[in-house]
Amino acid sequence: MGEVIKNGPVNGKVATQLKRIIAQAERHPGVIIPDIVLQTDCSFRLSPRNFAAVMVGRPRGSTAVIGVCENFSDQPLTRIRGILWHEIGHILDDIHGKRKWRKRTKIRGADDEQWADLAVAIMCKTRIYYDNDLVQRAGPGARGYWPRPKGLR
Ligand SMILES: [Zn+2]
Repeated sequence: MGEVIKNGPVNGKVATQLKRIIAQAERHPGVIIPDIVLQTDCSFRLSPRNFAAVMVGRPRGSTAVIGVCENFSDQPLTRIRGILWHEIGHILDDIHGKRKWRKRTKIRGADDEQWADLAVAIMCKTRIYYDNDLVQRAGPGARGYWPRPKGLR
């Protein structure tokens, strides 16, 4: 099972949610999540609706890095879960060999951000919704737009 490795101070709630999501994801056949380094890092931020980013591991399937902004842990729990699931989706999309698994679906023309959510929906049977601020929501009580709007960064 993928482990969560904290690099520097990280809010405990965020680490706990990430561990739960990894466990939930790995209950689905064929889903293997690599170890993930979790750190506070907001340098990727493009807009106020960005709270986290992932760097997938190389070679494919090796340790990934998720950076979260300082204010990430203050967000509602469904947002924390939605955002972490989305980052896991990027890892799944990458590990399963983008083109290969994308071809196996009937879906065409999604962008990379939509593919991250589709990976979670297809492989882990979990929907990631978008709230009125266009931030992800997932888990019990989550609702909003589905699928992710195209072209959203
Ligand atoms: Zn993304």
